[in-house]
Formats: sequence, C-alpha cells, structure tokens
Amino acid sequence: MPQITLLDKNTIDKIAAGEVVDRPASVVKELVENAVDAKATAVTVEIKEGGISFIRITDNGCGIEKDQIQLAFCRHSTSKIRSVEDLVTISSLGFRGEALSSIASVAQVELITKTSGELTGCRYLIEGGEEKELEDIGAPNGTTFLVKNLFYNTPARRKFLKTASTEAGYISDLMERLALSNPEVSFKFINNGQVKLHTSGNSNLKDIIYHVYGRDIAANLLPIEKEFGSFSVSGFIGKPVISRGNRNFENYFVNGRYVKSSLLAKTIEDAYKGFMMQHKYPFTVLKLSLKGELVDVNVHPAKMELRFSNGEEIYRHLASEIKQVLRGRELIPQVSLQE
Ligand code: ADP
Ligand code: MG
Repeated sequence: MPQITLLDKNTIDKIAAGEVVDRPASVVKELVENAVDAKATAVTVEIKEGGISFIRITDNGCGIEKDQIQLAFCRHSTSKIRSVEDLVTISSLGFRGEALSSIASVAQVELITKTSGELTGCRYLIEGGEEKELEDIGAPNGTTFLVKNLFYNTPARRKFLKTASTEAGYISDLMERLALSNPEVSFKFINNGQVKLHTSGNSNLKDIIYHVYGRDIAANLLPIEKEFGSFSVSGFIGKPVISRGNRNFENYFVNGRYVKSSLLAKTIEDAYKGFMMQHKYPFTVLKLSLKGELVDVNVHPAKMELRFSNGEEIYRHLASEIKQVLRGRELIPQVSLQE
C-alpha cells in the first residue's frame, strides 16, 4: 500500500492558493478588499502585463505592526474574526485568513507597511512561501503590496492565464465594481503607466456610475431606496431604454460585497419583464443591506457566492419595488387620510 504522509506547509499553501488565487484579478480583489477592511480612504492599483508580472497596491489604511507581519502571511491567520460565531455578524470583506499566504506561495511579494503608532515602517520579502527579508524602512502610514511574477513557481497554473490584455480587462472590470461598491474610497487604477480609473471618494454613487459607464447611462437612472422588514435596498436602476444585450450590467452588492446571486439576477430580470424586450438585460447598481445572520458568505473561498435565508422575502419585495420605480411613483394612487 502507498505510504500516507502529511503534506508539508508549503505544498498545502500552494494547493489552497488554487482556490483563492486563480488569476491576477483575484490577487487584486483580495488585496484591495484588505485595504478597504484596513479603513483606507485612498487605494492605488498599478499593473503591468495584465498583472502577471507586476501588481502594486498602495493604501493609506491602518498598516500592519512589525511583529504581526509574519503571522499575517500564515494560513488561517486573520484579525477579523476570532471564532465561527463572528461569521454571523461579520462586517469585513475578508475573514478566511487565506489571501496573503496563498498569494505569497505562488508569487514574489514585497510588503512595505507602517502603522500610525510606529515611528518607522517595515519591508518584508517573501517568495514562493519562503521568507527572504524583514527590515525597518522609512515609509508613510499605510500598506503597499508588490506582487511580481504570479505563478512563477507553478507553471501549470500560469499556462491557464489568458493574454495580458484579457487579464488586464478582468482587473479593469473588477476595479469598476470595487469603486461602485465603495464610493467613500478614492480608487486609482493604472495599467501600463496609464490612469484608467480615478474616483474621488466623495461617496456619490451617481458620480461613480458616470465615471465608469458614461453620460448616456448616468442620464437614464432611476433612484431606488427602501427599507423592508428584513433588508434594505438603495442605488439606481436603469430605465429600460438603456437595456443591454448581456447580464454584465446587472451589478448588485450585498453588505458592501460584490457578489453573484442567481436569486438577485432572477429578481431583477423578472421585475423588468414587460418593461423591455426579450433577450435584453437591465442596468442596475443595487446595494442590499441585511443582517449578517440572514446571509451566508462562507460558501466559496472567493466569497463571491452567497445564500440568503430570507430569499423569498427578498424576491417578493425587491421585485415589486423595482416594478413600482419603473412604473413611476406618480402613477401609484396616493391615499390621503382626512381626519
Ligand atoms: P483576511 O483578510 O481574511 O483576514 P488575509 O490573508 O487577506 O486574511 O490578511 C491577513 C491579515 O493581514 C488581515 O486580517 C489583516 O489583519 C492584515 N492585512 C492584510 N492586508 C492589510 C492591509 N492592506 N492593511 C492592514 N492590514 C492588512
Ligand atoms: Mg483578506
């Protein structure tokens, strides 16, 4: 019988990395989410060659203390939850403590970070999961991650990457969604030296929609804002005239997280039925907030899928609200009660 052995840490990390990091865009997602969790108000993302050779993410968030750096790169190390009960009330984007260890196991990573409480910053180098250097260095408050040569040590995975311009396209889409989901953060995205997106961080969602999608779409939006028993919704829905040929313009965010949800897609599309032609899809930027206990984000390592326990209620209320907004509120009879 073949011998059973426990895999070494580096191998375990590389296998796990496959679930968290499958392309440059997933590195950007994890690191920008960390910056947002660190309460950054400005985040700059620079990439070269579609992020395959170079990703640099700079934030002005809380930084990482020197004596916590090595721990941050261990698998399952996180400052965001302490126990499984905390998952219920989770408000941070991260919680699995897997991103840094995963990224560092399949790339060459340089971290420069400084907290406001420390006098000097730190520079940490880790490549393929192997620590190379930890030294004091002058740095502004906040954190910079430089991720070079993604999958340099896992050629099989590298082969699955698309061309640099396709990978850059995925990152660009992601940056737009991150900007839409965090209007209070100023995002700058630079691809091969060119600034592709720069949002002000002034909290105005409509400004960001204008920035990302242009004047035509921004001029054809209907605001939506409503509280229901178990959830609330805010944002904008597009008038049927700006319907699209695919689902890419159905944006929805749950508790600040960009997600994919067949329930929400169905709710939105069913609500628009009768308002637009078949095989057309609406434009939406909808933000749902609900109590953490009603939604399970821990379905998949990338945290993109979720499950709702009040799904039926969401469907019913949200679809009917979207329909009302599309019809125009003025058409709804107003009943005034005379005393
Ligand atoms: P998670 O986000 O699930 O906690 P990560 O592996 O992404 O796990 O990060 C590990 C820890 O490193 C985080 O919990 C956080 O304390 C710290 N960290 C990572 N990125 C940053 C950052 N940009 N600013 C401050 N702290 C960070
Ligand atoms: Mg994280």
